[in-house]
Amino acid sequence: MMYQPELETMPREALRRLQSERLVETVQRVYERVPFYRRLFDHHGVKPEDIRSVDDVVKLPFTRKKDFREQYPFGMLAVDRTEVVRIHGSSGTKGKPTIVGYTRRDIENWSECVARAIVTAGGRPGDVFHVIYGYGLFTGGLGFHYGAERLGMTVVPVSGGNTPRQVTLIEDLRPRGIAGTPSYVLNIAETMRQMGKDPAASGVEYGIFGAEPWSEEMRRTLEQAFGLKAMDVYGLSEVMGPGVAIECIEAQEGLHVAEDHFLVEVIDPATRNPLPLGATGELVFTSLTKEALPVIRYRTGDVASLIPEPCRCGRTHVRMSRIKGRIDDMLIIRGVNVFPSEMEAVVLNIEELAPHYQVVVDRVGTLDTITLLAEVTEAFAGAIGDFHPEHEAVLRLTHRVAEALKHTLGVTTEVRLCRPGELPRSEGKAVRIIDKRQLYPSR
Ligand SMILES: [Zn+2]
Repeated sequence: MMYQPELETMPREALRRLQSERLVETVQRVYERVPFYRRLFDHHGVKPEDIRSVDDVVKLPFTRKKDFREQYPFGMLAVDRTEVVRIHGSSGTKGKPTIVGYTRRDIENWSECVARAIVTAGGRPGDVFHVIYGYGLFTGGLGFHYGAERLGMTVVPVSGGNTPRQVTLIEDLRPRGIAGTPSYVLNIAETMRQMGKDPAASGVEYGIFGAEPWSEEMRRTLEQAFGLKAMDVYGLSEVMGPGVAIECIEAQEGLHVAEDHFLVEVIDPATRNPLPLGATGELVFTSLTKEALPVIRYRTGDVASLIPEPCRCGRTHVRMSRIKGRIDDMLIIRGVNVFPSEMEAVVLNIEELAPHYQVVVDRVGTLDTITLLAEVTEAFAGAIGDFHPEHEAVLRLTHRVAEALKHTLGVTTEVRLCRPGELPRSEGKAVRIIDKRQLYPSR
């Protein structure tokens, strides 16, 4: 089932024309109405009339999160403040939050995007829909709420926390769909088990998970726990909120970007040049329909790739991969982009390894080296008796881990296995990466 089949299966050429028209309008509007954009365009020598189609988007300057902070609270608005019916924002880890605004029409468009996303993920009008995302300044709760109401669902606005009450409502209201952060939904499953209940008996058929990075391993875990289908959703407040992109239940492989509302690019974060379709880099979005707060080439800091192949669900909107990490975390090893999250997935997949590891990057001569230090499990160490790097079983495991890393990352990684408890434990955020080259890409 599709929510807006005529838009979701629009031939690429027609979609491109629609995007071009909307881009030209957006660029003219921000230049006329937002002093910040006028100054930015002037500074880069770009005039609105230079932008005639989506091909010209590369001529436009980028915007960043810091622009939102510097224009706080209302400097990015392209409408009078009185036309703004809603404010959202993201929590400020560095001082002030970033603030975004929506006109009545923006809220309607957003609701449509989310309604479409929910249907793409398997939702239908009439479903009971359990929303665990936080309600408030964060876009997750209210974004899903309005979309689900627009679709005609029975929305349960539980928000986060109070896990026993989550369990009661899931058991008694029997939602077909659930939306929340994957880690918290897993926590709910564990609580249910501790209460002697089977999450799989709750009847939840699909889950829409996002607002934090997650992995295919987590997908399998959630799907097995609840007997549901787990879909990845993507969005960020600076661009709109949830509903920018979502996986379809048919393929569960890559997230369809709502391309009639957003123009997506992938750039090399170091050179800022656009990358060819399929390459991994930083996601950049330009809004095409937003009134209150249009964004031009917003650099998300999120790393992903676009999937060039058409999807078997029949939707023509391009898919993006799962978020592979943040550009701040990306390591460049001998010209290859490596994400600690990909290494973590390898570690977690090998039964003999404990989830304690460190990655050390160094340079020997002109050659980058990358070394994984990983602890073996107590069970593995116990079984071989005296743990020693030259022990035959340790050598075999070392080889296996190195092969798995080479296969996943595409670069040769040295592996050094450690005995249980050997690596330092975190008191808060774990220090996973030690880069001795100081070669993080400049932002
Ligand atoms: Zn699809």
